[in-house]
Amino acid sequence: MMPLEQTLREEILARARDMDASGLNRGSSGNISARCGGSMLVTPSGVPPARLEPAMIAKMSLEGEHGRWEGPLKPSTEWRFHLDLMRARPDLNALVHTHAPFSTILAIARKPIPAVHYMMAAFGGPDIRCSGYACYGTAELSEEVVRAMAGRKGCLMANHGMIVGGENLTRATWLAHELEALAHQYFHVLQIGGGHILSEAELAETAKGFASYGVQDPKA
Ligand code: 13P
Ligand code: ZN
Repeated sequence: MMPLEQTLREEILARARDMDASGLNRGSSGNISARCGGSMLVTPSGVPPARLEPAMIAKMSLEGEHGRWEGPLKPSTEWRFHLDLMRARPDLNALVHTHAPFSTILAIARKPIPAVHYMMAAFGGPDIRCSGYACYGTAELSEEVVRAMAGRKGCLMANHGMIVGGENLTRATWLAHELEALAHQYFHVLQIGGGHILSEAELAETAKGFASYGVQDPKA
């Protein structure tokens, strides 16, 4: 069942503050969205989580014309990739974009993350891809991100950061932390000359239980 709009607005706010407090984001970097019926709720542009109020979150229709919003403030400059991903991926109801430190370092080096840890199975495939580069807020960036996310729940974004998607805000936030953990591990493994990468068979075995593994939304 889809949570009520007010509940989603409050949860987006709580998640944005959590991202900031846990060091996954700084200031007004990053943005969060959630599917709300035929619409999308998305954080406004340039508002640090400490100043964010539920009523400031913009609402955009998932149908028809791109770019129109309801609300007192402009939506995130990245509304386009949030909207395009929600349209392309009915399995994703919440998206979290961050400039988390280790994910961003690997995205600057344009290094996709291989299966260094069994938690890779939570992302739906044997690796986390790195998208091609395009300027923030553009349709080109959106195309790159949708492509890099195909069949996955997360990707790195070249010289920018990362994005993850989940069935709900709880799962998307969990995956944001897990993707940053994978990036952190891989960064250090590269420093010591590399490590073993799990095989597709080993990962497939882990993936079997992953629909019900990890942090779950108590409302779901
Ligand atoms: P917004 O404040 O417009 O959401 O931009 C932050 C960001 O991370 C752009 O990529
Ligand atoms: Zn960004």
